[in-house]
Amino acid sequence: MRGYTPSIKRVIENLQKLPGIGIKTAERLAISMLRKRKRDSLEIAQSIIDMVERVKYCSLCRNFSEEEICHICSSPLRERKTLCVVEQPEDFFAIEKVGEYRGLYFILHGSISPIEGIGAEDLGIDLLVRRVKKEGIEEVIIATDPDVSGEATAIYIARLLQDTDVVVSRIALGIPAGGHIGYTDEITMLKALEGRRRIILE
Ligand SMILES: [Zn+2]
Repeated sequence: MRGYTPSIKRVIENLQKLPGIGIKTAERLAISMLRKRKRDSLEIAQSIIDMVERVKYCSLCRNFSEEEICHICSSPLRERKTLCVVEQPEDFFAIEKVGEYRGLYFILHGSISPIEGIGAEDLGIDLLVRRVKKEGIEEVIIATDPDVSGEATAIYIARLLQDTDVVVSRIALGIPAGGHIGYTDEITMLKALEGRRRIILE
């Protein structure tokens, strides 16, 4: 990065911290920010500051929210007996896009993975179980990814709810193994939800 001024260098280095941005793209973005109208670049910077400062987790479902309780959890139009557990906010968007599911959600922001050092406590699973018991949820639909850690997470949650009357179900396969819920098309997602099966523990 020889030749750049210190502040250009700083932006290039910072942009490379983002996923999928290598040095070439970072350089191109930094230069384009200088060439754009100054106001556009300042608006980009300010919008990132505002987003990072304002967006937090909903205290009930851990979805992104600018309020203490998100618009789904506080909506009187949602059906409150069913709760769908997903790994990522993108998965929530994929299910909402289908428009069929009217229940509540819980967002884990990951899945159990001993190799990566991610445990139940990092995913708010205690909060999930407390909520299910406290709010009289009747069915928990687990829509984690169909990979090893997604399956392990599904079984883990099912075990924690084993001694309750709550039905714990898993969305149907059809979403290819190793695939991601967030990238699933609407028809496949609809079939996966409709074809969900109760998890039977051995
Ligand atoms: Zn919420």
